[in-house]
Amino acid sequence: MKENLKACKKCRYLTTEKICPICGGETSKEWQGYLIIVDYTKSEIAKKMGIENNGKYALKVRGES
Ligand SMILES: [Zn+2]
Repeated sequence: MKENLKACKKCRYLTTEKICPICGGETSKEWQGYLIIVDYTKSEIAKKMGIENNGKYALKVRGES
């Protein structure tokens, strides 16, 4: 799974696209760890990370802006 996924440098959203479908940011293959947000409105972690979408998010992204 990790082979195909890239993480957005801005919002950390995990996608196979070169450009993040959520915020339009650049994505990177250099990321570590991930979490799955099922319902961001009920997730404390999502609130802490400023996540406002459901999906997979990287915990760390190299070159994060
Ligand atoms: Zn993004």
